[in-house]
This record gives sequence, C-alpha cells and structure tokens, in this order.
Amino acid sequence: MQETLVVVGAAVLRNGRVLAAQRARPEALRGLWEFPGGKTDPGEIPEAALVRECREELGAHVRPLERVGPDVPLPVEGRRAVLRLWTAEIVEGDPRPLEHLALRWLSAGELRTVDWLSADLPFLEAVGAHLTHR
Ligand code: C5P
Repeated sequence: MQETLVVVGAAVLRNGRVLAAQRARPEALRGLWEFPGGKTDPGEIPEAALVRECREELGAHVRPLERVGPDVPLPVEGRRAVLRLWTAEIVEGDPRPLEHLALRWLSAGELRTVDWLSADLPFLEAVGAHLTHR
C-alpha cells in the first residue's frame, strides 16, 4: 500500500499574530486561506519541507517551533494524506505573497474572519491560543 503523504503547514507567528495566505490555485481553492506549506518530497523530512515551502512561497526563512494538534486527514489527488502543522518563527526575511494572492497577519479576534481551507479549520483553536486578542 502507498505511504501516507504528509502535507506540512506553518502557523508563522509574529508579534502575537499568525500569517494566513490566500490561495491562487487550483481554481477550486482560489481565494481560500491556508497556513502556508505543501507536500513533502519523497524522502524529505517534514520539518525540512516546511522550511523549503515557506522559502518558496514567502521568500522568508522560518524555523519550526512545535507541532500543533494531531494530523488532519486530507485526500490529495486520490492519495491518502494528512495535514501536519507547526508553529514557526521568522529567522530572516519579510514574508511576501510570491505564490499566493495575498497575505494577512491575523490576531485571535481576526482568526475566523477569513475563509479557511477545511483541513486547516481543526487547527484554529490551538493556533489562537498563541495569539493576542487584537
Ligand atoms: O500547497 P499544495 O498544493 O502543495 O498543497 C497540497 C494539498 O494540500 C492541496 O490540496 C491543499 O488543498 C492542501 N493543503 C491544505 N492546507 C494547507 C496546505 C495545503 O489543505 N495549509
């Protein structure tokens, strides 16, 4: 049986806010918000994938801090996959939307004001605990 694909996501924290990124593609997901990240490459350690994806998508160097919650099942292209989330901090650079439509820094009070991908929703409560209210 094929191995479960690990999709990684980063809850990038700065000044009590978390970074949300608005997807440009595919068309079915365009306009929805996610924690930046993506698929691990074959043989790639998930934390390394998180650093790589954030560099590609945001042009910033991040460092994973701690796992958030349990994995969330997520079908990707007919494969068995999970979304695995970490909190992360910026080591270098200022995130820019290199592959997204927009980026937003959300406080706890703003966390549920964007339309999240459904796989990211179960993480919001735990992420919110790291944020300031406004
Ligand atoms: O970003 P990428 O297209 O590599 O992500 C692979 C799949 O994982 C997509 O289907 C996307 O919907 C999902 N994903 C997600 N939440 C994230 C990142 C990716 O549901 N934070």
